[in-house]
Amino acid sequence: MSFNSFSNSSCPKIHPSSQTPVQFSELICETIINYYPELQNAQIFLKPAKMKWAILQSRFGIKRAFSKNNHYIIEFNAERVYEALHEVSREAFQSILLHELGHTLTYYHNSFLQNLNLIFVITNNRRNQAFEKITDIIAISRSLDRGFEIFNGLIEYRNWHQEHLSSTELKNYLVTYYQEDELINLKSYLSSASSPELKPTIEKLILNLNQIANLPLGFLEKL
Ligand SMILES: [Zn+2]
Repeated sequence: MSFNSFSNSSCPKIHPSSQTPVQFSELICETIINYYPELQNAQIFLKPAKMKWAILQSRFGIKRAFSKNNHYIIEFNAERVYEALHEVSREAFQSILLHELGHTLTYYHNSFLQNLNLIFVITNNRRNQAFEKITDIIAISRSLDRGFEIFNGLIEYRNWHQEHLSSTELKNYLVTYYQEDELINLKSYLSSASSPELKPTIEKLILNLNQIANLPLGFLEKL
């Protein structure tokens, strides 16, 4: 495993730490260029962190409050990321990066104050579940727009992640994130909906944390 030798001049704003596997930095760079071009202006720091059961976690930087620099962080559980890079396919790892960068895109489109609203979103279980599922839909929409089908990779990744969870964690994981059956249903829904119908549905869900925080609970049930 090589670390910190990331020198891709196409992504000068990605900042790995000394413990960031080089494949991880490279794949983040590739994912931004191919699927989230607007994030090429964002400073993204890849930092190892202690996490209870999460493997990757996307955050906005507090420095954003004081400057115009767009500063974001993707924290990772180093041990689990190394395992994932060896045990899941490249497609599966890229699928979860599309999800994490979907969170980054949401923070990027919201002001610092709007992002603070996230505390309200993530401390409410049902709203957090909506936030995670909407982020999957952002990732799916980006991948489909650009010719990559994310579904199989995401199913593989979620099934793999499940194997590392305790029974209590698993219970929470299953209701928070789309799993295999739901992703298969979503895929058949998306392929049966014609694009004129589909686009506004996706666009409507996108990116506004205030909207997620204020969604009627009935809407959350449907996600
Ligand atoms: Zn997430």
